[in-house]
Amino acid sequence: MPGQLNLVSVGPGSTDLIAPLARAALERSEVVVSYGLYLKWIEPWLEGKEIHSLPLTQERERAALALQFAREGRTVSLVSSGDIGVYGLAPLVFEMITAEETTDIQVIPGITAALSCASLLGAPLGHDFATLSLSDLLCPWPWIEGRALLLAKADLALVLYNVQSEARQDGVYRILDILLKHRPHQTWCGIVRNAYREDVATDICTLEELKSRKFDMLTTLVIGTRFTKRTGRFLFAPRGYHGWETTETLPEGAIWFFTGTRDGNALAAECAALDIPTVISVATEYGAAQARRHSPRSIVLPGRIGEKTRTRLLPDAKALAVVDATHPFATLISAQLMRICAATNLPHLRYERPSHPLPENVIAVETISQAALIAAKTGKRIFLSTGVKDLQSFTANETVEWFARITPGADSLERTLASGIIPSRICAMQGPFSKRANETLWLDWGIDCVITKDSGEAGGLPAKIAAAQALHIPLIVVNRPAMTYPHLTHKTEAVLDWILSLQKDTLKAASTNPDL
Ligand code: SAH
Repeated sequence: MPGQLNLVSVGPGSTDLIAPLARAALERSEVVVSYGLYLKWIEPWLEGKEIHSLPLTQERERAALALQFAREGRTVSLVSSGDIGVYGLAPLVFEMITAEETTDIQVIPGITAALSCASLLGAPLGHDFATLSLSDLLCPWPWIEGRALLLAKADLALVLYNVQSEARQDGVYRILDILLKHRPHQTWCGIVRNAYREDVATDICTLEELKSRKFDMLTTLVIGTRFTKRTGRFLFAPRGYHGWETTETLPEGAIWFFTGTRDGNALAAECAALDIPTVISVATEYGAAQARRHSPRSIVLPGRIGEKTRTRLLPDAKALAVVDATHPFATLISAQLMRICAATNLPHLRYERPSHPLPENVIAVETISQAALIAAKTGKRIFLSTGVKDLQSFTANETVEWFARITPGADSLERTLASGIIPSRICAMQGPFSKRANETLWLDWGIDCVITKDSGEAGGLPAKIAAAQALHIPLIVVNRPAMTYPHLTHKTEAVLDWILSLQKDTLKAASTNPDL
């Protein structure tokens, strides 16, 4: 007669949270195979049973022993905390059997740590969430980091199991660094130790603050999303799929910087340093990571959300003003921002990095297609540092060889490959580049013509001019597109002065107008 193997989940550590099905399984079992700690919670059902308690590291042995007893015809409970199928012993048992197995195997579910810990914090998993175990005993560490990166980018709530052990001290901080690169530093997080056990402890702090904490193997971390809210001692995920572009998480009276540029992010950081709320809007995830790094106190909003949404979002969020610090060539977004500010009556300032004067032997052109024509007549191995948007206009001409230097974002690499430039002719690296770096790369690649844009000093133009002159390589510079801005400055100090005077005006208006 084949026996029965019950894979029994006993929850977080309180007798009250053991399901009736689990209790029944324990009651009918002759043999219980467990880890010592769990025996305390299931004590009421142990009387008269044969008990086998194996230490923490011997999971495989516990599973094998339980299976062996059941195969001998006995009724057995193999016990696991939380849910036996979640980082538990159930998968081990299934690895040990074949389709011909005659033992009656029953899996009895339980309350996993994600859920017990979340309940002590409020309802932080009210929406989509993922779990990640930080133990590298069963999974190579690079995989854990790789998954953490993808999860960090997906704005899901995240539950971290097996957070820190005596032997594994650093891992959790590396994971937090990855999360900090992709999520707002002020994201709400919960720490739960020993949920539903005697010395239970919970705490709430920001993602940034988690970095200075110590944990152990009795701890679970819940990392919120940008929507996670705190009310007193509770964390929760607002309900519903609507309103993903809501203003709830955006500070009121903020200056909205549109950047995607190093100098734009620096401006936002200076403004944030004056305790003025700032929001940075960027097109790509790569841009968002850069913005968070250079202006950690700003709220970063990545994505091309479009004119309609922005026209609604900016007034809804009670933005104070818009600073357009996008790249001099990003004319579509610049034009869009002028239209939005005019329509919504928002103060608008264009900050554009100064142009760099061009020496006489530089070939200045007005358009990308002019640059492409002249370059194909001038050189055979042509270096492009024009940004990925325009690559296709060059590579359409296959009579010469094109080389490109691009920003190291996945999106820009994909676009470069799609333009037909082969991997050995792509340099994906974050600038700015020195004269020497330019010279070395161009010499190695045998470059005989360089095309760039008048992206100013912040875009590394002077170093490109100097390198091209030293190597006697013709340099083609595409001039900035002509744009007319109602309010334009090239000076960073002027931006800050403008913001400060706006703030003063708003305060004055608020004090003289009782309706405000
Ligand atoms: N099968 C278990 C998980 C085993 S992995 C379950 O479903 O819950 C062990 C990890 O779970 C621990 O390192 C800790 O991160 C988490 N954990 C389990 N019980 C917990 C509790 N009572 N309080 C906090 N964390 C717990």
